[in-house]
Amino acid sequence: MLKTEEKSIFQTELKRDAYQMVINGRLADAETGEVFTVYNPATGEAIGEVPKAGKKDVDLAVEAARHAFDYGKWKKYPVGKRARVLNKIASIMRSRFNELVEIEILNSGKTLAAAQGQVSQAIEDFEFYAGAIVGHRGEVNNVPGRFFNYTQKEPVGVAAQIIPWNYPMMMAAWKIAPAIAAGCSVVLKPASLTPITAIILTEICHEAGVPEGVVNVITGPGGTIGSYLAEHEGIDKVAFTGETATGKDIMSNASKTLKRVTLELGGKSPNLVFPDTDLEAAVNGSLFGIFYNTGQSCEARSRLFVHEDIYETFMEQFVAKTRKLVAGDPFSENTHIGAIISKSQLDKIHQHVENAVKDGATVVTGGHPLEIEGYENGYWYAPTIITNVTNDMRIAQDEIFGPVVVVMKFKDEKEAIKLGNDTEYGLAASIWAKDQGLIKRVSDGLQAGIVMVNCPFSAFPGTPFGGYKQSGFGRELSVETLDLYTETKSVLSYSGSKPLNPLNV
Ligand code: NAD
Repeated sequence: MLKTEEKSIFQTELKRDAYQMVINGRLADAETGEVFTVYNPATGEAIGEVPKAGKKDVDLAVEAARHAFDYGKWKKYPVGKRARVLNKIASIMRSRFNELVEIEILNSGKTLAAAQGQVSQAIEDFEFYAGAIVGHRGEVNNVPGRFFNYTQKEPVGVAAQIIPWNYPMMMAAWKIAPAIAAGCSVVLKPASLTPITAIILTEICHEAGVPEGVVNVITGPGGTIGSYLAEHEGIDKVAFTGETATGKDIMSNASKTLKRVTLELGGKSPNLVFPDTDLEAAVNGSLFGIFYNTGQSCEARSRLFVHEDIYETFMEQFVAKTRKLVAGDPFSENTHIGAIISKSQLDKIHQHVENAVKDGATVVTGGHPLEIEGYENGYWYAPTIITNVTNDMRIAQDEIFGPVVVVMKFKDEKEAIKLGNDTEYGLAASIWAKDQGLIKRVSDGLQAGIVMVNCPFSAFPGTPFGGYKQSGFGRELSVETLDLYTETKSVLSYSGSKPLNPLNV
């Protein structure tokens, strides 16, 4: 077992040339000494090196988490004490807010407003679970007189948490906060493109008083260390956010030891605009729905359905406002569109658009990579609107994960629901309308884990986040998430005056 020095691993300087993993409360390099470079996608410049972990490093991290869970004190802390540590994590994050935002922007190319919102939400997530865990408890159940039954919630064990690149810090918080609140230990694997803020968050957890081994972070390729983690015998639960195809792999690997699994996967979410809507709100909300985070959102409303009676008016305003969106300097308050995460993602987006044109679709605006002065080596794509599309076309069915929206017409409520549901995904959906009866009927008819009504935002800490169908299962960000990091133990006891002799022997 690893031995740990009793000293803080928190590095006061958050911006560095080289980062290390955190295993068993210590900073760690890869066993092989290998590293890989992390880039700023807005400029293409290298911003730091991180260890390239291999299976040996995974073994060490799992061993540390296992030891902390099986023999450590974290899960035995009174719940109020765990809550205090979570609040401390939040308060350290708050005190370093601007630096965290800066690093998140440098590593992801997202805009200032997006990074500020996401780092804020990461902080609030720890605060939310500090409160929620205090009220998360078992029940006393009705049983015949001389019997007594209660349930208690016990942490599920060691959780492997594998996260994507689109919301690096927020996804790390969504994963770590409920898991450690519940008393679990964690091995977190961030995406290789964006590992930095997850590393810093793990250091902050230790600075706040999380004991060694409870939160570990390893960095390296998903295809090797991610899948090894998913099948590792020392892991009790896998919580994954990423592509649907990766989720299927993970589920299959995790099934070997029947691990608990939660999957937050892809989406192709519909945005339904009805004729009685407040048009300005619907246009502005639809812009946010697709172009927020440069379309690199699982809940991006990338299929826009507009009622035929208002289609022309809506499109006039929607296209005009899309053309006004500013792409460029991510640190500017005036920027709406940040960078695309990588060259390969940029190529993938453009390929989708070119295929759509070959299939007969029309690009109304955008449809090409952008050259931005001062950011010539970064990866940029113009906000893109595509029409002349039917819902069965590839551009309307494949997740693009970029600033590209397809727009289609519908004629009535029934057709809107049918088209909205006509996808393998079921993550989110938006409704823009005033008629409350219609809103209720459409919301009931949609197969989506998240329905937004006259509201462009998909979640706050406390609201369940997760999908139907091939968007995965399990919910994050909510009280329900704590159930997914705990087992329910049912204790049935007898306290009658006569001893029981059920076999009558
Ligand atoms: P991805 O599936 O390629 O990678 C996600 C993570 O899994 C990364 O850490 C990666 O290294 C790792 N990984 C890759 N292959 C693996 C394997 N075989 N076994 C184990 N781990 C592996 O996804 P991405 O490109 O990083 O992120 C984009 C995807 O994430 C989109 O599909 C998006 O919809 C989805 N997403 C979903 C949600 C949600 O809550 N539903 C939120 C954000 C992103």
